[in-house]
Amino acid sequence: MSLTKKILLGMGLGIVVGLILNLALPGMYDTVQSYILYPLGKIFVNLIKMLVVPIVVVSLILGTAGISDPKKLGRIGVKTISFFLITTAIAIILAIGMSYLFHPGSGDFQLDGADYEATEAPPVIDTLVNIIPTNPVNAMAQESMLQIIVFSIFIGYGLSRLGEKVNGIYRLIEQANDVLMFLVNVIMKFAPFGAFALIATAIGGQGFDAIMAMGKYMFVVLFVLLLQLVLVYGSALSFLGKMNPIKFFKGFSPAMIVAFSTSSSSATLPISMKSAQNNLNVSKSVSGFVQPLGATINMDGTAIMQGVATVFIAQVYGSNLSLSQLLTILLTATLASIGTAGVPGVGLIMLSMVLTSVGLPVEAIALVLGVDRLLDMCRTSVNITGDAVCAVIVDRSEGKQEDLVSEEKSA
Ligand code: ASP
Repeated sequence: MSLTKKILLGMGLGIVVGLILNLALPGMYDTVQSYILYPLGKIFVNLIKMLVVPIVVVSLILGTAGISDPKKLGRIGVKTISFFLITTAIAIILAIGMSYLFHPGSGDFQLDGADYEATEAPPVIDTLVNIIPTNPVNAMAQESMLQIIVFSIFIGYGLSRLGEKVNGIYRLIEQANDVLMFLVNVIMKFAPFGAFALIATAIGGQGFDAIMAMGKYMFVVLFVLLLQLVLVYGSALSFLGKMNPIKFFKGFSPAMIVAFSTSSSSATLPISMKSAQNNLNVSKSVSGFVQPLGATINMDGTAIMQGVATVFIAQVYGSNLSLSQLLTILLTATLASIGTAGVPGVGLIMLSMVLTSVGLPVEAIALVLGVDRLLDMCRTSVNITGDAVCAVIVDRSEGKQEDLVSEEKSA
């Protein structure tokens, strides 16, 4: 049985066990969760997270160093960032449009009991200024992804400029990369158990009353996520990437499943890079450059949730959003998704920034909190898919079209 099938089986069992715990044996949930599900899930997430910082450093250094021509590096950088921004903006526009079409906020919502301890979202300007680390070792210890990225790109640039002179270091990093990728394979053998435990926890601890009340909101978020996958990514892949979307989703599904179970783009990074390089034929240098960057700043799924949630909350509070407020949402949700860290639940914290920008009460986050875990799983899969689509398109645009066409012909 292939690994993907095993993980799917683990997830299926997780759903069944989660439902049994939730509906039939609610009294046992805490015990099973603390002694079985929590340790299993945590071990899996820790194992992959153990590799994240080293993989980001090594692959970004190699990715940048592999693009020896500084002009090419600049071109790839511009293409990548433009793709990220355009797809995020489309995602938010779809989110706002569909929220107006389906009106998830009409109905009776309990506002009195809503209390949400707002965590202050960091000011975006600080995030931007602080991307240059004063101490790279500290950045790695703190897992400050943007800082790690900047440092690694600098080192990669240095290596590419010095060329032969620093061949020793280059080879060392290349071999470190081989070791890390080998370890990803080893750790993924544990993925079916991890996926089982994480899904059973998510479903077992879910309040189904909350789901019933929030059904329409959830439907709109899920529908727009699907639109983003099928319409936006599907057409980007066909027209810009010259790649059959079905082939893409087949090759990338292992990463989407891990993102779904972990709700963390950053923890999924090792497997999403491996899937892109091995199954989608993306060159190591482009994948190593685009995907770690994307896992940190490109979150279309998160932006979709933020767009729908903001319009939903406005509808619940009966406030009409003006055109300039809608544009503000477009801008702030883009910035909020850039500032969202690739770990579970942060998208919701950053939502407070979007709400504040249009004068909506931050406490209203309590309304969407109850169902956020399930939506987080789905939006994280979309988040990392956007990065991989970008990697494919950038890679092909740098002159791999011919390879792919000949490869498809021979298949
Ligand atoms: N869990 C998401 C991710 O890691 C971020 C979020 O939307 O909360 O991509």
